[in-house]
Amino acid sequence: MHIVVLVKQVPATDNVRLDPEKGIMIRGAKDNIINPLDENAVAEAVRIKALLPEATVTALAMGPEAAREVLREAAARGADRGVLLSGRAYAGADTIATSRALAAAIKKLSPVDLVLAGERATDGETGQTGPMVAARLDMPVVTYVRKVDWQDGVLQVERIVEDGYEQVEVTPPALLTVVKDINKPRPPSLKRRLKALKMEVPVWGPEDLALAANELGLKGSPTRVVKVFSPRLVRQTRMFGENETTSAIDELLRQLTARNVV
Ligand SMILES: Cc1cc2nc3c(=O)[nH]c(=O)nc-3n(C[C@H](O)[C@H](O)[C@H](O)COP(=O)(O)OP(=O)(O)OC[C@H]3O[C@@H](n4cnc5c(N)ncnc54)[C@H](O)[C@@H]3O)c2cc1C
Repeated sequence: MHIVVLVKQVPATDNVRLDPEKGIMIRGAKDNIINPLDENAVAEAVRIKALLPEATVTALAMGPEAAREVLREAAARGADRGVLLSGRAYAGADTIATSRALAAAIKKLSPVDLVLAGERATDGETGQTGPMVAARLDMPVVTYVRKVDWQDGVLQVERIVEDGYEQVEVTPPALLTVVKDINKPRPPSLKRRLKALKMEVPVWGPEDLALAANELGLKGSPTRVVKVFSPRLVRQTRMFGENETTSAIDELLRQLTARNVV
């Protein structure tokens, strides 16, 4: 079994800055980490690999050169190898262009039996990438996965829904997006980290994926960010004394009616 895990490099804090002119994220080289849910995806891939001795795990990232680090992190956590999609042509990608590049890379890595992704990334946070990659590969997708079992070539999957969970059976190849309940990733040992530092990470450009430059990055991204702004939260507080309950209720009803809430 060949498992591909999608790992994204994200800013370490939730303090993501946006370029108000261009409507894109401003990313620096510093303080980047592996997307937390992708740590869970890697840990799950490595757990499944341990159940199936012939299994291998490939970590795949699209991002700047610095994103090699998240692939090394995945290797330190048990992935066998990492592949990076990097170069100017990929810059400024929306989820359509991102999923196109990732799906083309998965095709190149084929045969692939299982693709694992985080349910969402802490920066872009659309949750679209996994399902879009699956659609491009014509693979079944199961989202919000919190448990995976492997029985006689079939994946027994539990996925979280609003009022509980669903049990789904899916035959590989398939793509699963995982939530944090799926496992508790453990930090890798120093020995594994040191070994991962030496790992060669091949970098694939558009020519390796047989994609034209206008299918990738900003050129391949139909999403247009019209305006970027931080929402302003405005509160008006009115205090009522303990003997003013009736007028407080009247005022509350008046305000709610004025806003068409009641
Ligand atoms: C118009 C526009 C311009 C943009 N410009 C830029 C830009 O210049 N630079 C930039 O970095 N971002 C840019 N973005 C954001 C970029 O599109 C998203 O970060 C990316 O498409 C993934 O979406 P997401 O962050 O919502 O991931 P989600 O869909 O929330 O991620 C879910 C999972 O998908 C996988 N995944 C997502 N992205 C990757 C990846 N790159 N590699 C491997 N696995 C991945 C991971 O497993 C992740 O847990 C831009 C977005 C728009 C709309």
